[in-house]
Amino acid sequence: MDTPQLSSLYQQLILEHYRNPRNKAELDDKTVEIHMANPVCGDEVRLQLKIEDDRIVAAKFMGHGCSISQAAVSMMTTKLEGASLQDAEALARRFTEMMHGSTEAAKDKALGDLRALQGVSKFPVRIKCALIGFDALQEALKSYAQEETA
Ligand code: ZN
Repeated sequence: MDTPQLSSLYQQLILEHYRNPRNKAELDDKTVEIHMANPVCGDEVRLQLKIEDDRIVAAKFMGHGCSISQAAVSMMTTKLEGASLQDAEALARRFTEMMHGSTEAAKDKALGDLRALQGVSKFPVRIKCALIGFDALQEALKSYAQEETA
């Protein structure tokens, strides 16, 4: 699929993460692992988190797919290391709001580079691409919480 027309600065940032993904590696001592796929586009992500004392101490991923999906996951992992589970959840909520068109969420500096993906919200078929990483994160946090209470 073509990359939607985004401002060139944002497009560069997305391509930069796509070509040089951060935290793309296997995590040996992971606490949770979630696999997510977006069959519409062929995107796949396997997110691995190491959680200690309700804090994400390491976030890695493996995956393939379009530039938007892979860049979004790469950007997301850079925000996760050291984050509390609460912060990670808040970030996922904020990003999801932005992708569903919230201009207020898009102004949130906490999103950092992830704001480059705001323009994707204008392309409904691509929103799933941008969200695949955070969907995996939300599933991971849910499954971790379930294990904790089990
Ligand atoms: Zn995609």
